[in-house]
Amino acid sequence: MADPSLADRYDLHTHSTVSDGTTTPSEVVAEAAALGLAGLALTDHDTTDGWAEARTAAAATGIDLLPGLELTTKTDGFAVHLLAYGVDPGHPGLLATTARIRASRLGRAEEMVRRLGGDYALDWDEMRSGFGAETTVGRPHIADALVRQGYFPDRGAAFQSVLHPGSPYYVKTYAVDTAEGIALVRDAGGLPVLAHPAASRQRAPVPVAVLEFFAAAGLWGVELDHPENLPEWLPPLREAAARLGLAVTGASDYHGAGKANRLGERSSPAELVARIRAEVATPR
Ligand code: AMP
Ligand code: ZN
Ligand code: FE
Ligand code: FE
Repeated sequence: MADPSLADRYDLHTHSTVSDGTTTPSEVVAEAAALGLAGLALTDHDTTDGWAEARTAAAATGIDLLPGLELTTKTDGFAVHLLAYGVDPGHPGLLATTARIRASRLGRAEEMVRRLGGDYALDWDEMRSGFGAETTVGRPHIADALVRQGYFPDRGAAFQSVLHPGSPYYVKTYAVDTAEGIALVRDAGGLPVLAHPAASRQRAPVPVAVLEFFAAAGLWGVELDHPENLPEWLPPLREAAARLGLAVTGASDYHGAGKANRLGERSSPAELVARIRAEVATPR
């Protein structure tokens, strides 16, 4: 049902079947329109492949689309997700880096399935036939296969039991250094925003000193309003963001049925999206 309080709000972090969401880009856009959101950003992991479909759907439903992606990066060995808004999707460096990340993710998923195969009946060829050539493959796809086979009730249970980084089945995937990722997003004409810096699944929030380092490297904003950020971890990051002049964003990190996060449960004001649009290579 359309919610009037969302009429000037944007959900700036959503996933589709182009990566590890469970709804197609058109469906995500249609759901956002039905909720009464002013707009949304589609931010699939390491790909811009969903943009064309999302644009067509947005035009048909009259909702506003900001193109984006979520880049897989790492700092000091820790996974750091970097949202990138409005990049030039044809930027050669960005194309090369995202292609490398997706290729590594595919090989890593195959290796994880091979390791799991000793204990769980999983068929890599069958799983792989479910991905498009451009799909960004992640642990959620393995989780879905385990759920289909009846081993776990949902993705969350599969993550907790066998897919977490401490699991013997876990395999690392390539990630670009975060500071390099920030520079790459800037070079591609986009604005980089640090995703979920205080997510409860992390052992600790992103340290303030690291946020300062990212800001010096060209970070534009930080996603402080995210359903998985632990409220008690936020005050130092909020203070630092204000001091460093970083924009503060809000978004749901919607993955369809793959996660509890509901579309539009966190959002950003239209005014913030106007500021992003004024600075980026691909504003629509
Ligand atoms: P990967 O990209 O393979 O490292 O897997 C990480 C992705 O899995 C992220 O997009 C998360 O949103 C998702 N994820 C992580 N933990 C969970 C969980 N407990 N339940 C569902 N999805 C999860
Ligand atoms: Zn995801
Ligand atoms: Fe993320
Ligand atoms: Fe995400």
